[in-house]
Amino acid sequence: MELKNCATCHRVFQYPGYGYILCPECRRTDEAQFQLVKKFLDQYPGAEGKEVFLATGVPINTLIKWVREERLISSNAVNLGAVCDRCGKPVSSGKLCPDCRKDIVDKFKETEAEDIEKVEKILPKSKNNGMRFLQ
Ligand SMILES: [Zn+2]
Ligand SMILES: [Zn+2]
Repeated sequence: MELKNCATCHRVFQYPGYGYILCPECRRTDEAQFQLVKKFLDQYPGAEGKEVFLATGVPINTLIKWVREERLISSNAVNLGAVCDRCGKPVSSGKLCPDCRKDIVDKFKETEAEDIEKVEKILPKSKNNGMRFLQ
């Protein structure tokens, strides 16, 4: 067990090592709020953040947090106000929009390719000593 600060109330609690960093009390509240919003959205799919807030009392910031945690997918994220961390475009889930995600993956692959080239230059080329996968 590890001691952590609750993401909502900042109280120190014993973190079991998995799941959201919420103390047992906030976790219960969070779960109850989530179920409430889920119930509301089942009946009124595509409701705006403001409507969800008025109907359930769950703050829009909490809704955005769920979008970022990918627990909630919002078809009209614009109304919710959740935006991409990188370009500021509205996102329906996670912290980055699909374009930026793809961009990051592409960039990663590019730099990886460069690194692989560098490594190949440094390492003496030998059929016997080179790295290879086990068959
Ligand atoms: Zn808490
Ligand atoms: Zn983006």
